[in-house]
Amino acid sequence: MPTLLVTHPACLNHLPPLGHPERPDRLRVIEQALEQERYQSLARDQAPLADMETVALCHPLEYVEQIRDASPSEGLVRLDADTTMSPGTYEAALRAVGAAVFAVDEVLAGKTVNAFCATRPPGHHAETARPMGFCFFNTAAVAARHAQKRHGIGRVAIVDFDVHHGNGTQDIFWNDASVMYCSTHEMPLYPGTGARTECGLHDNIVNAPLRAGDGGEAFRDAFEEAILPRLREFRPELLIVSAGFDAHTRDPLANLNLVENDFAWVTKRLMDIAGQSANDRLVSILEGGYDLEGLSRSVAVHVSALMRG
Ligand SMILES: [Zn+2]
Repeated sequence: MPTLLVTHPACLNHLPPLGHPERPDRLRVIEQALEQERYQSLARDQAPLADMETVALCHPLEYVEQIRDASPSEGLVRLDADTTMSPGTYEAALRAVGAAVFAVDEVLAGKTVNAFCATRPPGHHAETARPMGFCFFNTAAVAARHAQKRHGIGRVAIVDFDVHHGNGTQDIFWNDASVMYCSTHEMPLYPGTGARTECGLHDNIVNAPLRAGDGGEAFRDAFEEAILPRLREFRPELLIVSAGFDAHTRDPLANLNLVENDFAWVTKRLMDIAGQSANDRLVSILEGGYDLEGLSRSVAVHVSALMRG
């Protein structure tokens, strides 16, 4: 079964202020990379629009309406220091959620074994009722809840190797024993959460912070020692990956030194986990990654690994 790639041109229409790192070119270079010959066998679909009830699986309906109503008809509106909306933002955010939910549907229907969602804006900083850090709706969290509420999946794991801590995802599942959230991230760094001592009410949160300057070895050790054993024990029935590539050594927003091979390695280890307890079911969602070359090369090896290539 081919790996599924889900994207949508509307995700290019979320326009940041000039010079902002979370920009449409990120998706353009990914699209270019995945046009190469060896990606011809990918199944490709366009993301449907998520409906408000779906987004409301993780956010109060009033919050979703608030984001909708904040949408400018022209120009930009600033929601926090680095999170702004353009006229195309609301649809882009709904396509990002729609892509992840559609990918979960396809994977759980057995139509594909795994999927990558190349969408923006990202989601892992969005808390229950607060946009922040380039994020509006928590796409990975909604995908997990959708799998549980609409497909009857029990245990879902969300693994986040973005260089920033997914404070939003942690917030949403802090008190939910059925979802395990695991994260590697540079610390101290934005947003400031993600200490090893933050474990959730049911010991369902696993934070493995790294230090500025750390590279592949420390990253792999964090997975081998802190994260993979916990995932094996938890036995997720579905694995969702918050795939941020800003821990790449070229990335301008952080100071970890990962290279493409490290992303290939972690992808394979997560596929091993999915193989052990989840029938290989894995849905990966783009989060950060702000150096265009580092991002496109890293996504390329990540998707190659998903294709078992
Ligand atoms: Zn990030």
